[in-house]
Amino acid sequence: MVTETRLSPAIVEALSIGALPDVQWKMHDDLCDCIYQRIGMWTNPYLAETLEVRMCCIWAKLYEQFPDQVRTIPAFWDYNREQWVTEPAEWNGEDEMPKPIWYRQLARQQNRSVADIRIEYAAKDELRPKGAPKPEPVPLFVRFGGEWVAINLQGGFGEEGT
Ligand SMILES: [Zn+2]
Repeated sequence: MVTETRLSPAIVEALSIGALPDVQWKMHDDLCDCIYQRIGMWTNPYLAETLEVRMCCIWAKLYEQFPDQVRTIPAFWDYNREQWVTEPAEWNGEDEMPKPIWYRQLARQQNRSVADIRIEYAAKDELRPKGAPKPEPVPLFVRFGGEWVAINLQGGFGEEGT
């Protein structure tokens, strides 16, 4: 008995023209101009199918239909101080600033579109803020029951000293 395998036209086409994507959609992939890039991804080995959805782009189209239910506020909500901050903060990460965030920060600072900034600054990557490694924490030694113990102030107890 011959088992007949039926492939859908979409699979036949994908295999024949090599249309399986090389690039996966990811958060901060800069493949769209949305400020907050959000991707939905579901994949299953038993179904051999992956569903990727650019939620951010779909949401943007939804937002247009409900303008009275959406507001874009030109400020960061500082949840520690409970106040609005209207100036974009300087990059203070340990690694260099991710390009998608840099492009969007420049767009905000220069009141230009992300697409416009991306074209100009793709060739000026040397201007992208570099990371600043955090200094090593200095251990604090305290005496516990006659023994010196190092305390890492960021992470509890460390190795014993002498
Ligand atoms: Zn998008």
